[in-house]
Amino acid sequence: MSIIVQKFGGTSVGSTEKIKRMADRVIQEKKKGHDVVVVVSAMGKTTDTLVKLVSDITTKPSKREMDMLLSTGEQVTISLLSMALQQQGTEAISFTGWQAGIQTDSVLGNAHIQSIETRRIREELGHGKVVVVAGFQGVTEDGNISTLGRGGSDITAAALASAIKADRCDIYTDVDGVYTSDPRFVPKASKINSLSYDDMQNLAVMGAGVLHPRAVKHAKKFGIPLYIKSSFENVRGTFIHGMAKQNGSSTVIGVTFEKDISRIEMFDCEDVEGFREGMMCELASRHIQADVYTQSCRNILSLLIKEQDLQEVLFVLEKERDRWKYSRIEQRSNLSKVSAIGRNMKAHPEIKIGMCKMLLENAVRVKLIGESSISVTAVIEKSHIQTAVECLHTGFGLDYENMMKATV
Ligand code: ADP
Ligand code: ASP
Ligand code: MG
Repeated sequence: MSIIVQKFGGTSVGSTEKIKRMADRVIQEKKKGHDVVVVVSAMGKTTDTLVKLVSDITTKPSKREMDMLLSTGEQVTISLLSMALQQQGTEAISFTGWQAGIQTDSVLGNAHIQSIETRRIREELGHGKVVVVAGFQGVTEDGNISTLGRGGSDITAAALASAIKADRCDIYTDVDGVYTSDPRFVPKASKINSLSYDDMQNLAVMGAGVLHPRAVKHAKKFGIPLYIKSSFENVRGTFIHGMAKQNGSSTVIGVTFEKDISRIEMFDCEDVEGFREGMMCELASRHIQADVYTQSCRNILSLLIKEQDLQEVLFVLEKERDRWKYSRIEQRSNLSKVSAIGRNMKAHPEIKIGMCKMLLENAVRVKLIGESSISVTAVIEKSHIQTAVECLHTGFGLDYENMMKATV
């Protein structure tokens, strides 16, 4: 029998009314004859509320207790959704991450899934039940509850879909698909009907918050099709599957952004290249993403990180001060990144040149510009982000009217 995984994000289960509506969606799928596994997020802004509670108690919460707390949000939703299903005569059972057999590494707060023991889920599916699993959580080898990082329920859904060899993983959310940029930020953004895993992963890694990049990685590994669709409207969504066509050409497929970026600079480093290596290993072991630059002539090491990681990175730098020997640190927030995403970007310098020109014409000062094979990224003042994203979106021909013309 075919298995479908359905994932409902926070807004989709933001009230008991909405939970009942999502139960209808589950039942519809079940009635088509599929086995159904459901993954849910915490209701609405519950996770943010839990984070705020902590600030009344301490500025330095232990990671273990933080994960214990944050994992409760999803637990509320699994039980309510299971009850809603039972109320409508559909047999259902809820599982926390550890009951679902989700084992993670021990990087609390940002854990990676290592394995999933699906025996219990399969047994319950075998009994004809809908299995409702708490997203965003698992258990470490030494028995602590772990969370997967913000937005992590997408990862749970895709990893579970891969582990149980589902036929499809449907991600229900508050937009009706993946767009060429965040449609709440760029009203002229165009919906993309179908994307390869790689293109979706590139958009997500560089800031398209509609899907967690690690979810795409899990789905790609086992070839599980992902379908991003609206929880509230019955319209066609975005299908993610297959490989990108490699023909050497490069088109910009989207403009992404990360609003809250911080820069840290360490001055007078004794061995700046050694420091760079050590720093990259240390941050990788904590699953922290950073762009690291050295100015060897002036012995300066610079890091660009997400603002949410700033405190942890400063902690690491202070802890290792004797080892890495730098004279002082300067930090700067209120920066943003804007990226043009495509393929073969390095072989097409006109994209980088065009991007610089468009930003300049719109009075956006570029602090730093870098490129990789999949993106050209500019670091700018946060106050310029709206202008920057919109002018690049229009300039690269991604606006809705333009895309419509192209398909006529
Ligand atoms: P959920 O709670 O369902 O996981 P998220 O808030 O994590 O929902 O993701 C959905 C949001 O992603 C949308 O409301 C939208 O603002 C944002 N988003 C960012 N980039 C994109 C994009 N390229 N396409 C569609 N939505 C995007
Ligand atoms: N509840 C978690 C968060 O708000 C996980 C998720 O929604 O995917 O980040
Ligand atoms: Mg999300």
